[in-house]
Amino acid sequence: MYEVVDPATEQVVSTVALTSLEETDAAIERASAALPAWRAVAPADRARLLRRFADAVDGAVEELARLEVLNSGHTIGNARWEAGNVRDVLHYYAAAPERLFGRQIPVAGGLDVTFAEPLGVIGVIVPWNFPMPIAAWGFAPALAAGNTVVLKPAELTPLTALRLGELAREAGLPADVLQVLPGRGDVVGRRFVTHPAVRKVVFTGSTTVGKQIMAGCAEQVKRVTLELGGKSANVVFADADLERAAATAPYGVFDNAGQDCCARSRILVQASVYDRFMELLEPAVRGVVVGAPGDEATEMGPLISAAHRDRVASYVPHDAPVAFRGSAPDGPGFWFPPTVLAPVAPTDRVAVEEVFGPVVAVLPFTDEDDAVRLANDSDYGLSGSIWTRDVGRALRVSRGVEAGNLSVNSHSSVRYSTPFGGFKQSGLGRELGPDALSAFTETKNVFIAT
Ligand code: NAD
Repeated sequence: MYEVVDPATEQVVSTVALTSLEETDAAIERASAALPAWRAVAPADRARLLRRFADAVDGAVEELARLEVLNSGHTIGNARWEAGNVRDVLHYYAAAPERLFGRQIPVAGGLDVTFAEPLGVIGVIVPWNFPMPIAAWGFAPALAAGNTVVLKPAELTPLTALRLGELAREAGLPADVLQVLPGRGDVVGRRFVTHPAVRKVVFTGSTTVGKQIMAGCAEQVKRVTLELGGKSANVVFADADLERAAATAPYGVFDNAGQDCCARSRILVQASVYDRFMELLEPAVRGVVVGAPGDEATEMGPLISAAHRDRVASYVPHDAPVAFRGSAPDGPGFWFPPTVLAPVAPTDRVAVEEVFGPVVAVLPFTDEDDAVRLANDSDYGLSGSIWTRDVGRALRVSRGVEAGNLSVNSHSSVRYSTPFGGFKQSGLGRELGPDALSAFTETKNVFIAT
């Protein structure tokens, strides 16, 4: 049994049975057995079932959001968005079964057509930071393409995934098409990698575990999608709307208490406006409302666990160059105040490693080339922001920064209709958007002699 803890109160809110290795094998066998009937469901009917699943999620948005507040300490506003995102991703991919087109290719002596075949059983491994959306980004396109899914939520945050599994059944998805298996990474997650009936692993999590998953999948040439860590840059040029750039910078990194793979945890500021930017940033950081995640006005909740808070705190030792900090409640809960570190050298640990907490490093740069060089001075390449009023510069820097998801004069990374994923060690493959189906299908070419 695993005790699920509310990170805002440190109270145990639920206990969840951990799936054993034997139970994992049995679930994978059932997913395999469910495959022929699921892939044979007529495209319009599979679409209808996914829309019903989406509607069931829509009807449960508030319930799911409250559950996420309790389990993960997400702010209620964020949690509602996350549950709504599951609904939207399901609706978006519900259009896919009827549009899984192949091609007809001109050849001599016959007819040549391609089919987009499902892969089989898909193993989805989810981290604790966005339990609902990341689960849906895997299961929605996988199911739409005719695969069956076994899904492992993170040990710390199983509650919403379990509820989504129930909602799928209530909406009429056949048994064993989507199974949620709470459990340990090195038991359930690892079995997804080693079990030959699992034909693809969709992993979101740390780069360290991602590398092990990729190595393990190589053994069976198993398909793998990896969404890993980040150390994204928020690049502020002197010609930007500095007021807006400074007012929004805290939300680009402290959202979800910084536990966001897309967190802009390095702010790069052109040296000529550095002092002015810091003047503007200070009240913005102090103004972030940190507190009980269920309160409507709260903008930032606690960290996920005591162990994670210790890890985050290790980036802010006593002699750390703290420029200024926001507030955090006293008393129970895994709280950590929004923290701005400056000056920081590009080689400092906090400028290199993913903190995954509300800590941001500010670094100056000289010119456009220097900004791109600094932004790319990382093993990661997931997201980033560029603030400038010069559209040419916005495009040049966007093309120059090696990252999968950039936003100009904003901090948006994720839309279900656009591709999401990382360059370099931030990952492999793309989720969401119009092309995600190809990551859950195998192209089959058939030639028919005439
Ligand atoms: P983690 O790697 O510790 O765990 C992620 C998942 O993998 C969990 O479900 C865990 O149980 C499982 N796991 C652990 N060991 C395993 C093993 N040996 N085999 C199979 N599965 C195993 O990561 P975390 O601490 O839960 O999440 C934080 C990390 O996730 C951060 O690095 C963050 O950047 C990353 N992340 C990336 C994205 C993205 O889309 N790129 C999104 C969210 C989070």
